[in-house]
Amino acid sequence: MNRPKRMLLENLAWARETAHADAQFFPRLAQGQSPKVLWIGCADSRVPAETVTNANPGDLFVHRNIANLFSPSDDNTMSVLEYAVRVLKVDHVIICGHYGCGGVRASLLPQSSDLPHVNRRIAPLCALGERHRDELDAHAELDARANRLAELNVLEQVRLLQQHAVVRDREAPPLVHGWIFGLHDGLINVLACGYEAEGITQDDRRMQVASLQAA
Ligand SMILES: [Zn+2]
Repeated sequence: MNRPKRMLLENLAWARETAHADAQFFPRLAQGQSPKVLWIGCADSRVPAETVTNANPGDLFVHRNIANLFSPSDDNTMSVLEYAVRVLKVDHVIICGHYGCGGVRASLLPQSSDLPHVNRRIAPLCALGERHRDELDAHAELDARANRLAELNVLEQVRLLQQHAVVRDREAPPLVHGWIFGLHDGLINVLACGYEAEGITQDDRRMQVASLQAA
């Protein structure tokens, strides 16, 4: 069976099972949305926002692009942010990057001439890498450099979002969070929480995971 056909059959099964489990689920969904969270993540197929946070339809307003970049000059990004903050009035904006990000890795390599759009898109990442050249060069392996740049990229997008008028000028501004997802263990590390980019709070995250496991 081809992939689209299988997807449509899976959709049918999901819709039936969901309606069977909660008869009001779709009537509720059809009434409108009031998500509390805007998720800005990477387009990578391995980091689906709803799946990795166990969220449901209606929970997250989602914008995904290569390397989870917030680009104030991009109408796509800006229209999503504007609508989320001013109309949906989300309480939280989460930038979620991930380790093993191909877009971040590409910014550390010579540019491919047949990917002009990607090259333009990741140009800010190349510049960010240059600004942190000494720190990145301390890592011998390309993958380690890319993973550190993925963290720095999340913190940079948090900083840009916090400074943007759409976020900053709302009477009660949404909290901007910086997260990074580990493909190797499925866990999210918190890099920045709320207004302050506090650096990597691996200890905090470890405590959260330990307390969840103990519960
Ligand atoms: Zn990625």
